[in-house]
Amino acid sequence: MNTKQFYIDGAWVDPIEGTEIDVVNPSTETVCARISLGGEADTQAAVAAAKRAFDSWSLSSKAERLELMNRILEVYLSRSDEVGETISREMGAPVDMAAASQAGTGSYHIKAFIRALEVFEFERELRPNTPNDRILYEPIGVCGLITPWNWPMNQIALKVMPAIATGCTMVLKPSELSPLSAMVFADILHEAGVPAGVFNLVNGDGAGVGTTLSGHPDVALISFTGSSRAGIAISKNAADSLKRVSLELGGKGANIVFADAPEDAIAKGVARCFNNTGQSCNAPTRMLVERSRYDEAVAQAKAEAENTAVDLAQKSGTHIGPLVSQMQFEKVQSMIERGIKQDGARLVAGGLGRPDGLDVGYFVRPTVFADCNNDMAIMREEIFGPVLSMMPFDTEEEAIAIANDTEYGLTNYIQTGDAAKANRVARHLRSGMVDINGQARSSGAPFGGYKHSGNGREGGTWGLEEFLEVKAVGGWNDESAGGTV
Ligand code: NAD
Repeated sequence: MNTKQFYIDGAWVDPIEGTEIDVVNPSTETVCARISLGGEADTQAAVAAAKRAFDSWSLSSKAERLELMNRILEVYLSRSDEVGETISREMGAPVDMAAASQAGTGSYHIKAFIRALEVFEFERELRPNTPNDRILYEPIGVCGLITPWNWPMNQIALKVMPAIATGCTMVLKPSELSPLSAMVFADILHEAGVPAGVFNLVNGDGAGVGTTLSGHPDVALISFTGSSRAGIAISKNAADSLKRVSLELGGKGANIVFADAPEDAIAKGVARCFNNTGQSCNAPTRMLVERSRYDEAVAQAKAEAENTAVDLAQKSGTHIGPLVSQMQFEKVQSMIERGIKQDGARLVAGGLGRPDGLDVGYFVRPTVFADCNNDMAIMREEIFGPVLSMMPFDTEEEAIAIANDTEYGLTNYIQTGDAAKANRVARHLRSGMVDINGQARSSGAPFGGYKHSGNGREGGTWGLEEFLEVKAVGGWNDESAGGTV
């Protein structure tokens, strides 16, 4: 694959006016590829191809789209190892985790959207006994899909598959830090026979391709996953063209651990926070512990952090890898420094600098702060590294108030042996998702946030509806009743 090309109108093409940047392997700080950042003309060409393809793809049948999605699944599964290796190289997820979790999310979402499409009704009655009303769900148009680097295939599959499933056409702009897995995915779509122009990929940065897409009059929807900062910029730029903007943004999840929580709740909470080197929007980064268990919990979290191995992404094993970039490394270091010096939190594990023996690469020490309060920056800001902030609470009401005292609202976590309490607290948490005792949500459940965590919902029926317009028709001829009103 020529990594300097873009995928437009069914073919890999040279950039019209691109500049070039390096893709850096975060474990070694060496250049692993060079890509082009598209310019205005490249983005225009991709949008024009998507616009032309919309005329026919929007009229494709559900059966045709299901057939295509099944072919995509087949090709994806045959190239899943390549996806995992590529993700590991470009953003630093350790190879085993990249193969199982990072690449695994791609096939998981393709399968889930096949299931969701199978049962989705694009034409429905308004309600029983309204034969002359019809509700039609129709593809919204050309979609701009802008994705981050932390779970690259997860985000791409969550946007590309529902766009294909609903008859939309699209231009994907993956993160400039993780463009290579997106290019492999484009090649998978090509191999599966996605019609020319339905899917297009232009690499680029936010200021360039991202901004052209969000302001483009022919783009009907921007589906964006990334920082709240970029989500705000995109919303403002999209306003003039009144396009729909669906946002999946940052988080600062609270993990409320009650005294009656299972014994392993602390260790699991720490591991969950450090997973993907802390670079997950839904990471439980604020651990709130009922006071009677607090000291024990801090000791357990310290032990868990000190037992968390950090190593090169190319090595097999259950360790965590580096952060994605020098910039992210510096940001996480500055937040750890802030926690120690300005916030005055108690550092119980980790701290500044790299782990012993890792002098090259964007590696950080798994870090735990105790005795935090909600005024501290380390409790309020998304750090996006393996950094846990702990704080005690006395009552259920106080735990809920602390959890909700944040501008974010993506995922909150509850650990307790009391089912009624768990449900009660879940109802009061201001977040798009709640996870009780580590129970994963089923496939097809909507993923998304409240407040500064965004306004979109991805996955399942909700994920399809994001890409659809709703048309209400009165005076519909009820064909089952003989075609007359
Ligand atoms: P980012 O906002 O810097 O970049 C995300 C994408 O947006 C990239 O492709 C980037 O090039 C592009 N972009 C940046 N500025 C833009 C602009 N002004 N206009 C158009 N495009 C622009 O985020 P990141 O550092 O890549 O990712 C980390 C962030 O993503 C974290 O805040 C994380 O919480 C969030 N995230 C959220 C979810 C979710 O589903 N809620 C999932 C994963 C990551």
